[in-house]
Amino acid sequence: MATFKLLLLAGDGIGPEVMTEVVKVADWMAGAGIALFETENGLVGGAAYDAHGKAISESDMKLAMECDAVIFGAVGGPKWDAVPYDVRPEAGLLRLRKDLGLFANLRPAICYPALADASSLKREIVEGLDIMIVRELTGGVYFGEPKEIIDLGNGQKRGIDTQVYDTYEIERIGRVAFELARKRNNKVTSSEKRNVMKSGVLWHEVTNALHKREYPDVQLDHMLADALGMQLVRWPKQFDVIVTDNLFGDMLSDVASMLTGSLGMLPSASLGEADKNGKRKAMYEPVHGSAPDIAGKGLANPIAMIASFGMALRYSFNMGEAADMIDKACANVLATGLRTADIKGDAAATVSTVQMGDAIVAELQKIK
Ligand code: NAD
Repeated sequence: MATFKLLLLAGDGIGPEVMTEVVKVADWMAGAGIALFETENGLVGGAAYDAHGKAISESDMKLAMECDAVIFGAVGGPKWDAVPYDVRPEAGLLRLRKDLGLFANLRPAICYPALADASSLKREIVEGLDIMIVRELTGGVYFGEPKEIIDLGNGQKRGIDTQVYDTYEIERIGRVAFELARKRNNKVTSSEKRNVMKSGVLWHEVTNALHKREYPDVQLDHMLADALGMQLVRWPKQFDVIVTDNLFGDMLSDVASMLTGSLGMLPSASLGEADKNGKRKAMYEPVHGSAPDIAGKGLANPIAMIASFGMALRYSFNMGEAADMIDKACANVLATGLRTADIKGDAAATVSTVQMGDAIVAELQKIK
């Protein structure tokens, strides 16, 4: 049986609760003879700060560098609001992204038919929606220098951020998008604002050249980021893979996520550069945060976390069939009407985090 090494970083708030449900699914996979997962548990965020005074320890960083994939819960919470900036819980997440070189953030927005009415848009607009937003994660305006506030005197200050992209950064994120599209509906929409930004002009030029040179079989469209925001809520099913920079990707993927109902449903993957064997450093995490308002109450929806593990199977371990099984098990369980509180809708009753995890494992057993 194939064996993979996972580092589990559950983090804070509901992180440990939803991670427990992933462990159940991984154990079921081993029991079913599909794959074996050797897991190590580490600390990140507030939990790591409480233990080591840092948002992630060097020994856990070492484990993260050595494992086949990091499975990450969530970090943060009011308990750590006053800790120094460089050791705040989010610093652990940023350090992982930076040191693992996770430049590609994949956020699927899938609308399960059973949840179409939970969306803020009409059922016919979102039912069956299946799009993938590929966001550049390590460059652009969040990291460009200079980045500062200058005192101009006379009570005036100037805030400066710098949007900067080099050819190689645009090419490598473009490749991720084109490769994904080939396994989906073969269509990429690239988005920037070349009408007002030089980095957008370069983004457009490099993406076109890459397309022509390496991916002429994939359909490529371009759409300005503001227009794309509008089209996402008007007619989202026109898209397959969307590729965009760090800033626009941050905003557009949040818009797309809300099309699908609840934050508790949304997984993500962050991938690094492929090595000579095609292997990438990778981290998988739900889009949601640590949800301090419901932590410890058994109310968290574990589906985003379980689906993130499903993405690990698909993108790190080449186990597409097993990943499909997880997606199907989640969809089937939802179709029976089982709901956690965040997706309650008109349901008469809701189930706990543990009950939802148990139901998904039972469904996996059924469809195996
Ligand atoms: P949040 O995602 O934690 O919660 C937003 C709302 O969604 C809350 O009402 C919460 O109860 C609900 N929710 C989130 N996940 C859910 C789930 N699985 N099941 C059911 N309901 C769920 O965002 P927030 O409240 O803005 O932030 C809380 C803390 O999380 C902050 O400290 C923030 O910095 C941190 N945060 C961390 C990450 C991360 O670790 N990647 C991401 C976002 C926010």
